[in-house]
Amino acid sequence: DVMIELQQVSKLYRGQKTPAVEDVSMTIRRGEIVVLVGPSGCGKTTTMKMINRLIEPTSGRIMVDGSDVTSLDPTELRRRIGYVIQQVGLFPHMSVATNVGLVPKMLGWDRKRIDARVDELLHLVGLEPGQYRHRLPRQLSGGQQQRVGVARALAADPPVMLMDEPFGATDPLTRDRLQNEFLRLQEKLQKTIVFVTHDFDEAIKMGSRIAVLGDRSSIRQFDTPERLLSN
Ligand code: ADP
Ligand code: ADP
Repeated sequence: DVMIELQQVSKLYRGQKTPAVEDVSMTIRRGEIVVLVGPSGCGKTTTMKMINRLIEPTSGRIMVDGSDVTSLDPTELRRRIGYVIQQVGLFPHMSVATNVGLVPKMLGWDRKRIDARVDELLHLVGLEPGQYRHRLPRQLSGGQQQRVGVARALAADPPVMLMDEPFGATDPLTRDRLQNEFLRLQEKLQKTIVFVTHDFDEAIKMGSRIAVLGDRSSIRQFDTPERLLSN
């Protein structure tokens, strides 16, 4: 049951001599957490942005849930794909609740349904709604902001989650806790997840399969954590 497919995808940024991503093909099945791990600059973020159609591949094709991403309008994309990034990207002047409810609002949900969903999500990520829904991002710790980022990405219950160094900005202890909580959540949610990190330990912990990337995102190994560790 294929959920995401990259078919010979390349990206050459304008003005660059070498491609950031070159001829990458990959198949991701429903319910997997596939981790892309590799050094800084190897093209992980570029790959994520192409899956989310923030940038276009120079060549190749990307399928998500049976559709070529170039055929999906922004609303359909957000219905299918939740995106979590390291710098969270919460709107600083908007409350936690408004941030979390952005995509449902864009999808035209009514106010009552949005409010109920926001409370459900905050609860899900371990933030007491009564205490946190009216706060501004700057009134939260880094770890709490990351939780809000995860809640926002989950808001419209997309089948796919793209997580780019989602816990990267937090201290080691908070990071460990967020990882554990997210894995527990995923047992319930069964999302298809692409997770980017440059930290091999995090890859081993989070991945059901791990793609070890080299230059231009060339796939050096692609296997389960158990098999990678035994080699
Ligand atoms: P990673 O996420 O693995 O750190 P990136 O995808 O961010 O790698 O970057 C891959 C390569 O593409 C790097 O050499 C980076 O400098 C380059 N790059 C990224 N974004 C752009 C851009 N907008 N324009 C030109 N080059 C870029
Ligand atoms: P990340 O890998 O987490 O995206 P970077 O610092 O590499 O962090 O990139 C930050 C932003 O700058 C990204 O939006 C990326 O597309 C852009 N960028 C990265 N490298 C380049 C580059 N060489 N030229 C232009 N823009 C770049």
